[in-house]
Amino acid sequence: MAKDDDRKPTTTDSGAPVPSDEHSLTVGPNGPILLHDHYLVEQMANFNRERIPERQPHAKGGGAFGHFQVTNDVSEYTKAALFQPDTKTELVLRFSSVAGERGSPDTWRDPRGFAVKFYTSEGNYDMVGNNTPIFFIRDPMKFQHFIRSQKRRADSNLRDHDMQWDFWTLSPESAHQVAWLMGDRGIPKTWRHMNGYSSHTYMWVNEKGQKFWVKYHFKTNQGIQTLSQADADRIAGEDGDFHTRDLFDAIEGGDHPSWTLKVQVMPFKEAETYRFNPFDLTKVWPHADYPLIEVGQLTLDRNPTDYHTEIEQAAFEPNNLVPGIGLSPDKMLLGRVFSYADAHRARLGVNYKQIPVNSPRCPVHSYSKDGAMRMQNVTDPVYAPNSKGGPAADPERFPEDTTWAADGEFVRKAYTLREDDDDFGQANTLVRKVMDDPQRDRLVETVVGHLCGGVTDPILERAYDYWRNIDKEVGDRIAKGVKAKKG
Ligand code: NDP
Repeated sequence: MAKDDDRKPTTTDSGAPVPSDEHSLTVGPNGPILLHDHYLVEQMANFNRERIPERQPHAKGGGAFGHFQVTNDVSEYTKAALFQPDTKTELVLRFSSVAGERGSPDTWRDPRGFAVKFYTSEGNYDMVGNNTPIFFIRDPMKFQHFIRSQKRRADSNLRDHDMQWDFWTLSPESAHQVAWLMGDRGIPKTWRHMNGYSSHTYMWVNEKGQKFWVKYHFKTNQGIQTLSQADADRIAGEDGDFHTRDLFDAIEGGDHPSWTLKVQVMPFKEAETYRFNPFDLTKVWPHADYPLIEVGQLTLDRNPTDYHTEIEQAAFEPNNLVPGIGLSPDKMLLGRVFSYADAHRARLGVNYKQIPVNSPRCPVHSYSKDGAMRMQNVTDPVYAPNSKGGPAADPERFPEDTTWAADGEFVRKAYTLREDDDDFGQANTLVRKVMDDPQRDRLVETVVGHLCGGVTDPILERAYDYWRNIDKEVGDRIAKGVKAKKG
């Protein structure tokens, strides 16, 4: 090989130059390999440990870096530093599918994750959303079971429509999200051509301490585009990384995708008397009741240079909140606040927040100490309270003000029903009022195809009734379509 003086010499992980990239140390050219070839051993050992546990769920994904620029004054609703006029905040965003493993095709029909980490001046703020404004269930007790029903069977290790529809039809609260998933938006053309939603309701608090409930909508500036089932199936065979490639290539080519963040704002007291429970994750707030208010622009303009450290190890968690933003009584959200951080500790280790992509860009003064893979030095004092000048909580400056009142017996019960709380009404609005005739035809075709993919009685009969409850005509057409196809 021609000598290239600019080329850096290969080193071991400890920085010492290695004698060869190509040959292991042997006793003569034909002799056995020597165990003290520690560079060979280091290469093999590192390779054997490259994979870390994949996420369960949201294993397959991609992402990029960018920024959020505030374009409107929403300070009457929140004091959060990142949403104050003219503020610009750096961020990382990860897109993902839900059920598939790390190598699964990007174009399977599935909701998509839309997780944003804002590196704000007051700590990291994570908005861990999806490309749908709703979800399949409303109680975290069912989440594990729901995901298992979407993944693989114990015996054959195959995905199974029968268990998917078994779970869905026994969980009627899934109807709205299933109708959404089986519609055109169930397969986005690319990650750039879909919206992101907080789905959950959060609390915003302004400088005066006034509280509001909010839902986030990141509307794509590229326009909504979707794939037909046939195109998605074809692409899954041709290029399983279709969405990953599209995002990377677009950004590499200087085509920077962007989204306009808009919020729906509900005055704090109105939640008590609104016609349905506004914290129920299976429901949207109709735009007519709570119109969208613009906040700013999110732009992605920088690709990762190391997918593993910057995207695979990125850890998003809804408990990463900042002053001016809080939780809500949404039970799914409250469950996720435990579950996400727990998943990161299991997958990445207790000090995962010291991995650069997860590290805040503002100073950290916590009392966490030691543990595996700690990178940053701990300084004394290591306890609080102390008289040694260590950090001290400042509730005058940072009051715990994103709270709400609650009382009652400990119970295991669904949310108390209100006048318009039902499982099928909003699914019907979607199917009957939002979708037009061609969209409804495609919905029927998609569901018929899905049900003919191995769903058995009595689950099939339950599925017809499930759809009839959403919309009688659509349910009848689905039943007819399945019977005709099965012959
Ligand atoms: P609107 O007529 O004000 O809004 C309809 C919404 O539906 C728009 O946000 C539109 O998105 C979206 N949409 C259009 N086609 C589809 C599709 N094939 N699949 C999923 N969403 C689609 O009505 P409402 O606010 O009263 O909501 C009516 C229904 O619309 C709801 O029951 C819900 O299913 C759906 N929806 C409502 C949202 C909300 O937050 N209110 C958000 C998204 C969907 P776009 O503006 O991007 O075209």
